[in-house]
Amino acid sequence: MPQKFMKTDVVVIGGGVTGTGILLDLSLRGIDAILIEKEDLANGASGRFHGLLHSGGRYAVSDPESAKECIEENLILKKIMPDAIEDTGGLFIQLIEDDDTFVFEWLKGCQKAGIPVKEISWEEIREPHLTDRVKRAFLVPDASIDGFLMVNLLAEAAKERGARVKTYTEVLEIIAEDSRVSGVRVLDKRANQEITIQANIVVNAAGAWVDAVAESAGIALPIQPNQGSLLVFHHRLTNRVINRLRKPGDADIFVPAGPVTILGTTSIKPEHIDEPSASLEEIERLLDIGAELLPNLKDHRILRSYAGIRPLYSSDTVDEGRDISRSFHIINHEKDGLKGFISVLGGKLTTYRLMAEKTVDEVCGMLGIDVPGITADTKISRTIKGITGQLLCDCESVGTNDLEYWLNTNEALGLNDLRRRTRLGMGTCQGTFCGYRAAGYLTDRGRDGLEELNSFLYERNKGTRLSKGQQTVENALNRAIYLGLFNLNERGPKDG
Ligand SMILES: Cc1cc2nc3c(=O)[nH]c(=O)nc-3n(C[C@H](O)[C@H](O)[C@H](O)COP(=O)(O)OP(=O)(O)OC[C@H]3O[C@@H](n4cnc5c(N)ncnc54)[C@H](O)[C@@H]3O)c2cc1C
Repeated sequence: MPQKFMKTDVVVIGGGVTGTGILLDLSLRGIDAILIEKEDLANGASGRFHGLLHSGGRYAVSDPESAKECIEENLILKKIMPDAIEDTGGLFIQLIEDDDTFVFEWLKGCQKAGIPVKEISWEEIREPHLTDRVKRAFLVPDASIDGFLMVNLLAEAAKERGARVKTYTEVLEIIAEDSRVSGVRVLDKRANQEITIQANIVVNAAGAWVDAVAESAGIALPIQPNQGSLLVFHHRLTNRVINRLRKPGDADIFVPAGPVTILGTTSIKPEHIDEPSASLEEIERLLDIGAELLPNLKDHRILRSYAGIRPLYSSDTVDEGRDISRSFHIINHEKDGLKGFISVLGGKLTTYRLMAEKTVDEVCGMLGIDVPGITADTKISRTIKGITGQLLCDCESVGTNDLEYWLNTNEALGLNDLRRRTRLGMGTCQGTFCGYRAAGYLTDRGRDGLEELNSFLYERNKGTRLSKGQQTVENALNRAIYLGLFNLNERGPKDG
């Protein structure tokens, strides 16, 4: 296999919000860095989360440290990333049967964390689908985030400042000499080429794979992977984020996200972390509990389900799922006998900027550099070009110019990558009509459109297999259109 060498100050492993946030912070402090992502950007939890910019209210009782971090970061992100955030506001709803003592503790916790809370009357709630069994309702500054856009904005802003991003490149090994990191060995999957990247510092921000990457350096990290599953409803069922005001549990948050609503989550031990998916049992549970807040929930069409993995860090093995703190951890592995290697884990998408800043402070300390972080005051606006052209996806208004822009970056090549970058196929028809058109466009560009279409439909089909009601009609149409070509439950053409 051909070999290649590259050199930088810092290698960042993982193209989720943590890795891209760290890359931007490094580039703003003038530190040369390369980000390595084994698939496309936002392949992990950052593309499979709930979409909530937390006010901190959810953690006000159970995890005061996270609550404080969330409200502080919530206010900063609304200022610096307005393009990726919709400031919907949020409601915490106590139902008649919910515990008054918890509400009292919650109000105290919010006050302590600095979360602004305002009680409103039934007339002021104005949420038509909400049950009338509301006892009390409180407004908080929750909001909705487009995670795909956020990750792309961070990566683009870092690249504008000289950082490099390599997608479809997997870190195989952390290289060390004399108990000090000297770089990484990676595989560029598209070129089928191994590359040795020399670096002084390696930052492991590999999300649910953080322990596997640490393991390649001979270091054991106590990670408990935890799966959360979510349901996407076909339109906005709520105007604001709606949280159930009781001890955090399953299915107690509705997030309005663009044209849809996302209900979640669950908290279970995953079967596998590479291709997580919601089980029928989880879907039933989400619907049953969600219907306590929105009684006509089961009449609404579910577009799809999906699942993401939280890499919860606990050195205490008696901790279980929701009881493990959602705060973050930055581990300098000098304590494990390896200098120049840091792992970053836990936390929330809401707190990515703070995690990145603290990580880069640590990196600066290791490099002997004294430059303060400025991300809290650096506005990141949408400079991503594209914007429609000939229409391909009606549901999400995506056109040929949008695909062209990302194809030209040479980072996003396949239809699934283009979906993550542009939202193609994410709307009501779930790719039924735009799939053919986009595949035709790729074929015109000299790519294997049929192969791309197959992979795209397989991915879309994964989240709709367990669909119910109205959505089964849409799925039947999808199958009728495509079944001549593909078996949608597998990759590959129909007859082998
Ligand atoms: C179900 C669920 C719901 C959530 N809801 C919310 C919410 O509403 N609000 C909120 O603030 N937070 C939420 N979170 C938390 C949030 O999603 C995560 O904190 C955040 O996305 C983590 O980002 P990350 O970059 O650390 O990890 P990831 O996004 O998982 O990124 C890690 C990346 O590393 C890459 N990688 C792994 N191994 C290698 C390797 N060897 N070489 C190269 N690359 C590699 C992966 O492909 C992946 O892209 C939720 C999490 C889950 C699971």
